[in-house]
Amino acid sequence: MPDIRVKAASFICALSAICLFLWLIISAKIALIIFAIGLLTYLFNHIVWLHKLHLWFKSPVLKEIPEGSGAWEDVFTSLLQYERNNLANQAQLSSALERFNLTANTIPDGLVILSPSNEIEWCTPHAENQLGLNISTDKNLPIVNLIRDSQFIAYLYNENYCEPFKLKSWQNPEVIFEVQLIPFESKQKLLICRDMTQLEKVDLMRRDFIANVSHELRTPLTVVGGFLETLTDMEGAVPDNLKSYFAMMQEQTGRMRRIIEDLLTLSTIESNSEAPDDIEIDMTSLLKTLQKDALGLSQGLKKAKHKVQLDADPSLYLVGAQDELHSAFSNLVSNAVRYTPTGGEILISWNLMNEQPVFAVRDSGIGIEQQHIDRLTERFYRVDRGRSRETGGTGLGLSIVKHILIRHQAKLEISSEIGIGSTFSVVFPKARVAHKQDVKT
Ligand code: ADP
Repeated sequence: MPDIRVKAASFICALSAICLFLWLIISAKIALIIFAIGLLTYLFNHIVWLHKLHLWFKSPVLKEIPEGSGAWEDVFTSLLQYERNNLANQAQLSSALERFNLTANTIPDGLVILSPSNEIEWCTPHAENQLGLNISTDKNLPIVNLIRDSQFIAYLYNENYCEPFKLKSWQNPEVIFEVQLIPFESKQKLLICRDMTQLEKVDLMRRDFIANVSHELRTPLTVVGGFLETLTDMEGAVPDNLKSYFAMMQEQTGRMRRIIEDLLTLSTIESNSEAPDDIEIDMTSLLKTLQKDALGLSQGLKKAKHKVQLDADPSLYLVGAQDELHSAFSNLVSNAVRYTPTGGEILISWNLMNEQPVFAVRDSGIGIEQQHIDRLTERFYRVDRGRSRETGGTGLGLSIVKHILIRHQAKLEISSEIGIGSTFSVVFPKARVAHKQDVKT
């Protein structure tokens, strides 16, 4: 098909040829008049089609595209083709969207898409049921206006979404959801909400079972331990050849008692879903206590002696539950003492790093091989069982630390090198920095 420029040029050439012929056989005047009339008709024709095109654009219905003539036939044919492609693309897009919606609706978890400023952009019907949302009225509203749980709000603003968050349904407090936020694209977030009620019930039964067993074992163990101690202390009660057995029995009952105490601590922390009672903790004085305890422990062990140093920013306070955090930090410090040979160095530090408050314990101890690091916080996971037992370990210390840190939205980072030493760092969210004062050291 000749293009529009060829068509226009052919018309002008044909008109010029006719007028030239008329000039030759009739007169120049008549030829010019006919040329002018020809051009005017041509122009008028264009104006008419342009007007029709303009009218069509006002209500662009595919079926009503004018057919056009001459060069305009090509214009309208191209427009028709373009519109048809457009409609086909739109149909494809809406069917893809419909399929996506159908698929998303079959996922048993609730899905919500949040804008960079945490407004609801889209959600599935399951999310509407679980979180009590209504997309037709709640679209573009901030999610914190609709889910008012203070811990959820802290989780959302902390921007540390490695671990999921447990949320009680406000419609039915017995229903527990696990909420996980996944950032994507330019700071948008996908919120996944999973009903964990059944799993939580099973977990509760497990926790209750462990707590009950530990509780039941505590009394008989105390009695056995007490009698062993009394017998050992009684002059002549234990024959000399049996004394070593009695010492072993005492050691093992002591170990069992420590395990039971740790199991009870763990189940208390795990079953306590309430937010910790936060206060502003004076970390400098807490670090001094930790140093004193570490030196005490170091001297208590056979021959072991360590250098324990502090590096704390005195103006930096931490918002958290003092007793829980003290227990977590002291677990890390006691591990550093127990896994660092005589003469080793331990540094306990408390500083801001990348604007986040970090508590760290660095030791020059035996170190940990890379493949064990991810598993250290599992219950009863030990790299070297013998050494753990020898130094009075229960294998539960780091599990307790992990649970306490989860309650404070903090994370444990471990770096270690065999024979060089390990660093256990607790990174707290910025929101847990209390205040900076001009404190003199
Ligand atoms: P345990 O009571 O056995 O010390 P933890 O849960 O406190 O139990 O620690 C788990 C394991 O991690 C330990 O058994 C030990 O192998 C390893 N570990 C912890 N802290 C250190 C450290 N500072 N240096 C070397 N290994 C460590």
